[in-house]
Amino acid sequence: MTLGSLADPGGENPRWIWRNGELVPWERATVHVNAVGHASVAAVFEGLKAYLAEDGRRLLVFRLDDHMRRLADSARLCRLALPYTPGELGLAVLELLRANQYRADTYLRPWIFAAGIIREQMVPADAPCETVIDSWAFRSRPPSGEGCRAAVSSWRRIGEASTPPRAKAFANYHNGRLAMIEARANGHDWPILLNERHKVSEGPGSCVALVRDGTVITPSLTSGVLDGLTRATVLDLLSELGVPTEVREVDRSELYLADELFFMGTAWEILPIAEIDGLPVGSTPGPVTKRLTEAYAALVRGTAAAHPEWLTELPL
Ligand code: PMP
Repeated sequence: MTLGSLADPGGENPRWIWRNGELVPWERATVHVNAVGHASVAAVFEGLKAYLAEDGRRLLVFRLDDHMRRLADSARLCRLALPYTPGELGLAVLELLRANQYRADTYLRPWIFAAGIIREQMVPADAPCETVIDSWAFRSRPPSGEGCRAAVSSWRRIGEASTPPRAKAFANYHNGRLAMIEARANGHDWPILLNERHKVSEGPGSCVALVRDGTVITPSLTSGVLDGLTRATVLDLLSELGVPTEVREVDRSELYLADELFFMGTAWEILPIAEIDGLPVGSTPGPVTKRLTEAYAALVRGTAAAHPEWLTELPL
């Protein structure tokens, strides 16, 4: 692999990256090679999306304030000193979107990592941090696409006994990565991880829900899940659609009895699951998943009247 290909993972880099309060040209946003090892253990991030509105004249950043608040929570849990308020970071996201002149769905990744060259293995609490916001064009899947094949992983989801699952820490993602590698090696698309109590937790970068007899059931926040904003959005949308929901511990066997099963997350949106451990799920995408997918698309593209408070508008 050449350095050129490493530097340009998506084929086309944005012109600007936001770093410590300034817009910096992409090629100048570098760190020394010795700064990446332990600094990446002491690092947290967010992932959010800006959608091109249905009218094509605005970008709509979805739940900007909530994502920035979760970033601050992750920093707090991981004892990293975040030098900006969530409000300041929200403004920085908008500044970056404007500078890069996006006219399409865009993914944004704000992150914080321990600054400088770190010789200590254990980065101390409140070490100075860098704050960076990266962005790239990220198209949504067409709604109601084919379902994916999921499998219960032999890896357990990290838990409160070891490291906080609520933190969006880069280090946590090694867990999901191993589970994903196992799932792919066995011919599946994505893993579903159980927690240390053998209850259903989540996917490697998404929450999970099942539908049984018309009720949508998703694991509680004490099941080792990230406090997913798509999950929270989905629970609100379902109650507005009159669909009953349950938030509780979920047994593995309930996955096999589900009428419908889906992942949900910022990048994944609502992704139907067609197969679990090689067994077909009742229907894919089932009627509840379909209604939900449509409601979610209308919401993020600004065609639903409800929840203007979740959309930050950036006129183009
Ligand atoms: N769990 C994990 C581990 C994740 O990385 C994500 C994506 N942020 C989610 C769940 C879903 O969270 P959200 O809906 O806020 O994107």
